[in-house]
Amino acid sequence: QAGDANSNQTVQNRSDGFILMEEELEIAERKIRAFLDSLSREDLMEMLIVANNHGNGSLQALKDNLAEAKDETPEPEPGEPVILAPSWCKCGKCKEMPTLIENKCCMHKHCVSKLTKFNKYCLDEDLLVLNIKARCDVRADVWNFETRELRKAAYRQFTLWKYGRLGKNNRRVVPSCCVLKVRSEFPSPNGIYLGYKPN
Ligand SMILES: [Zn+2]
Ligand SMILES: [Zn+2]
Repeated sequence: QAGDANSNQTVQNRSDGFILMEEELEIAERKIRAFLDSLSREDLMEMLIVANNHGNGSLQALKDNLAEAKDETPEPEPGEPVILAPSWCKCGKCKEMPTLIENKCCMHKHCVSKLTKFNKYCLDEDLLVLNIKARCDVRADVWNFETRELRKAAYRQFTLWKYGRLGKNNRRVVPSCCVLKVRSEFPSPNGIYLGYKPN
């Protein structure tokens, strides 16, 4: 149990650093807004094209960014299947889950599972491997990078990203849409998945 106390302490410290960083980001964003406000429409246009080309450069990517900024439902990508979402879902990407507690939506019209940050934090295998190594280091566990462990790391990354901390006794339910996205990226070979276990 001493190991757990240590890991909670580490997360606590990290979480404080996280909050500080959010404040710094807000100040930086205000400066960026003031700068953008001073630019001409032509300069803004050119800069957006360059910025978009640094991303994946497609018209769809640009439309997705606008939908994310305005929290609007993005245009479906060509060939994307239309899922009929349950009544409690606002983002259109959730499905009915095996237990009531798992029936949780990200509550954004532009689904969190479609965000670049979600992709970076929760689906980037290199980051998930690092998450597992960091956790094993604190707990003196042996590394295990099986897909099941990658999924669990993705859920920890999600919780840390959204709530700033983990914590054994206040586990949070990851929204259905995000769970489904993680499962599609790191599928179980037998199609069996562990659901959410409260504490
Ligand atoms: Zn949803
Ligand atoms: Zn969602």
